[in-house]
Amino acid sequence: MRDCYAGQTTQRLSGTSMTARKILIVEDEQAIREMIAFHLSRAGYDVVEAGEARTARELLADERPDLALVDWMLPDISGLELTRMLKRDKNYEDLAIIMLTARAEERDKVSGLEGGADDYITKPFSPRELIARIQAVLRRSGVNNEEVVKAGVLEIDMAGHRVLVAGREIKLGPTEYRLLQFLMTHPDRVYSRTQLLDRVWGANVYVEERTVDVHVRRLRKALSEENADSYIQTVRGAGYRFSTRGT
Ligand code: CA
Repeated sequence: MRDCYAGQTTQRLSGTSMTARKILIVEDEQAIREMIAFHLSRAGYDVVEAGEARTARELLADERPDLALVDWMLPDISGLELTRMLKRDKNYEDLAIIMLTARAEERDKVSGLEGGADDYITKPFSPRELIARIQAVLRRSGVNNEEVVKAGVLEIDMAGHRVLVAGREIKLGPTEYRLLQFLMTHPDRVYSRTQLLDRVWGANVYVEERTVDVHVRRLRKALSEENADSYIQTVRGAGYRFSTRGT
C-alpha cells in the first residue's frame, strides 16, 4: 500500500528506475486534498501535496511533478495567479496544469484557460472524471509512460526503462539515464549546467556544476558505440545540447 497522506513523502529519485507520473495537488482544504491524493495514489500516481502556493513553488522545484492540480481559491495567492506565474516560467514549460474550482461560470473557465491552465474541472467531480482528465492532459502534453523516443541510432523506451544504440541495449547509471531522457525529450536546445541540475537533479539538490560534466562524460562513454556520443554536444560557454545534427 502506497503511503499517500503525508505531505512530502516522495522519496528522492536518485536510485529509482521506473518513474510513475508525479502529480502535485495544491489545495488548502485538507479533506479534499487527501481525498484526491488517495484516489490518485490508488491509480498509480506519485503524489505530493501543498496547502498553499508558496509550498507548491518549493515542491515544484524539488519534486518536478508532471502535472499540478491547482485549486482556484488558495490562502496566499489565487490558483489562477499561480498558474499564470508557472506558465510564464521557462523552468516549468513541461508542467501540465489542471485548475480545480467551485466556480462553474463560463467566464471563470475562460480566464482559467487563458491563464495557461491545460484543463479545468468544476467541483464537485468524481474521482473517475478527475483521473480521466489527468490522463487526457498528460497524453496531450507528451509526458507518457508508454513513450519511446528515437533519435538517430538511439532509442529510449521510457516504459521499459531501456536505452538502445543501433538496436542493442546498453546499461546506464540512474543519473545518466535521467540525463539522457531529459536531453532526448528536449532536443536541439542548449541547456546550461545550472538548468540541467534543476531539471535532472532537482533545484534543491546541492551539487556542483562540475557534477554535470562528470555525468555527461559517463553518458558519452556509454554511447560511444556507433558514435552516438556525438549527439551530446558541448556548446562552449553555454552548456550542452542533444542533437543528431552535426555541431
Ligand atoms: Ca481552496
